[in-house]
Amino acid sequence: MSHLPSGPERRRLGLDAHITRRDFVNGVLVGAGAAVLGASSSNVAAASGRACRRTASEPATAAPAIGEDTFTGYGGVGDYARANGNTWPVVQAAHRLRDGQYDSAALANAKAAGDFDLVVVGGGIAGLSAAYYFIKATGVGRRVLLLENHDMLGGEARQNEFVVEGERLLGPQGSNDFIVPERGKGSLLDSFFAEFDLPREYAWQSWDSKLRPLRFARDNYSNMDGFQESQVDIGYFFGTAGCRKNIWANALAETPFSATARRDLLKWRANHWPISEAESRHLDTLTYKDYLEKVCGYDPAVTRMVEPIVGLLSGVSSDAACARLGRQLVEAPDRAMAVSFPGGNSPFPRALLRGLLTDSLPGKDFSTLMYGPMNFEALDRDGQSVRIRLNATALRVEHANGDASRDSLAVTYERGGSLFKVGARAVVMASGGWINKHTLVDMPPDLRAAYDQFSYAPALIANVALRQWRFLYDMGITACRWFDEGDGIGYCCNIRQNMVTGGHSPVLHPDRPAVLAFYMGLPIPGLPAAVQGATSRAKFLATPYMDFELRIRRQMMALFASRSFKPERDIAAIVLNRWGHARLIEPPGFHYGVEGRPSPLERAREGYGRVAIGHSELNGAQHWGSALEYGKRAGEKVAAML
Ligand SMILES: Cc1cc2nc3c(=O)[nH]c(=O)nc-3n(C[C@H](O)[C@H](O)[C@H](O)COP(=O)(O)OP(=O)(O)OC[C@H]3O[C@@H](n4cnc5c(N)ncnc54)[C@H](O)[C@@H]3O)c2cc1C
Repeated sequence: MSHLPSGPERRRLGLDAHITRRDFVNGVLVGAGAAVLGASSSNVAAASGRACRRTASEPATAAPAIGEDTFTGYGGVGDYARANGNTWPVVQAAHRLRDGQYDSAALANAKAAGDFDLVVVGGGIAGLSAAYYFIKATGVGRRVLLLENHDMLGGEARQNEFVVEGERLLGPQGSNDFIVPERGKGSLLDSFFAEFDLPREYAWQSWDSKLRPLRFARDNYSNMDGFQESQVDIGYFFGTAGCRKNIWANALAETPFSATARRDLLKWRANHWPISEAESRHLDTLTYKDYLEKVCGYDPAVTRMVEPIVGLLSGVSSDAACARLGRQLVEAPDRAMAVSFPGGNSPFPRALLRGLLTDSLPGKDFSTLMYGPMNFEALDRDGQSVRIRLNATALRVEHANGDASRDSLAVTYERGGSLFKVGARAVVMASGGWINKHTLVDMPPDLRAAYDQFSYAPALIANVALRQWRFLYDMGITACRWFDEGDGIGYCCNIRQNMVTGGHSPVLHPDRPAVLAFYMGLPIPGLPAAVQGATSRAKFLATPYMDFELRIRRQMMALFASRSFKPERDIAAIVLNRWGHARLIEPPGFHYGVEGRPSPLERAREGYGRVAIGHSELNGAQHWGSALEYGKRAGEKVAAML
């Protein structure tokens, strides 16, 4: 934990300027903060909707201990303002559960709260998909209860919202981009787009032809590995060796890499053909580092180039991640650019929600799907067949009398400090294995043994709302990648060219607000895979918001101070989205199993008794489509049981 600076360093980093970190008290913008945001306080208060939990304090002089106020920081405005990443109450409840701190007598005496045909645990894409496809298979008369522990739906596919200089801006909290499914292919994603009338062609922010030409990513990944440089202007920062633009365009000629490193980096970049199932199985037996350095014989500079990308996308460093995943994640030069909605993949769970409870997201069009305020009243009304309960943490799921052959279960959950119990004829666990192994108290030993092999790694997504970004424009770039000695934070950031709709079209201009997004994993090379995940998660959860803010500001100074960047003027807000279990770690042998022993993924997919398990992790590589697919499978599986 670093100490907060004082004097000139403090001023240099802009820590004394009013940003929303400390200008909010219980969700209402106070005093001068309104002026610096450029929106009236009533505007922002209206946009923030419900009361905000955090009490902001004046600039601190020492790094504070971790607690609710110091953990979360500012959460933006609107419906997602109290649900940025894994929030403090959710983390605390999960840890109480893990540590066996719920009193068994209190759990046994939980208040009865009704009976349902299906209880779904988890309100991410998978949980909403399970509920939606269950209803589709069984008809609307069925009673469904969905429990979600955050105070907003969407899981990892939630969004951050800002109002800066009167402009409403969105950014992804985690889940970010997607490939538009081809129409008429009959795939699940194609049917999903057709069923929910999602457009497949989009309008994008226009770029004033009087400004210098500049190329933008339409998501926050295309800039990471530089493979889409033909479409994005990327600055590479080599510490004291300075910044180079679009290094691959002239075969790394201007970079400080050695001749051998350059040769091997170019070979690595060309090594992108699709792999067969047999190759994929073989690559599952090696680490990615061994594949790069021993099988391909590349210079370690290649491993260093790829390390943070593998760390983000697989959760661990390349000496612990399997080569199958490394090979899939980063090797596809000049592929078609994926696209992102303004709030990342949040429209997908929102579409499912609209399908389940039409008046929860009033309106029918695409714009309100992305920007419309949620009607929270519509989620959990007496008498409706589908009920969605937020801020509700499932603690125990068990078959009657602990007998998995029985056709009834009890689900106990905590909400607002009280315990409740509901009956269910079936349960879908659309939450990850890290929590399932504590909630599924009667799971069979082989499932427990499978879950014991699951381990997870965290990721941090920081959205920095900027009042202007002329400092990037002056450099002729919209994305950055940096190489340092471990003294910085993250490795890349970018601003996107946003999708626009009839209802919303913020201006893309260097003097206007934009969101600069930092995506990062927190791998610890040299440690075994599971240890990396647990160690970095413990550290990451114990780090106060202020500490991350400081590091982000220092990183931005290191990148941009030589240009026109002024943190006190340019930064309007910083929102952190912490994902404690962002990635299921896949070390060698995990995906396909080893020596005739099946993969633990296979066992988890089977569920047991009247419990179906459906979460994107069951796919191995997690993405929005796998959440939709595994949720659907689980929903249809339990529909067939009833
Ligand atoms: C940082 C990051 C970036 C990503 N980027 C992309 C991307 O660009 N493109 C892409 O396609 N995919 C991306 N993904 C992956 C993809 O978004 C996820 O795999 C998918 O959204 C997960 O959906 P899910 O419903 O399976 O799980 P989750 O989103 O994890 O939803 C599970 C929900 O259950 C809740 N829950 C857990 N335990 C309980 C309990 N006991 N009681 C009640 N509720 C509970 C959780 O809080 C959560 O809301 C990204 C993921 C992360 C973390």
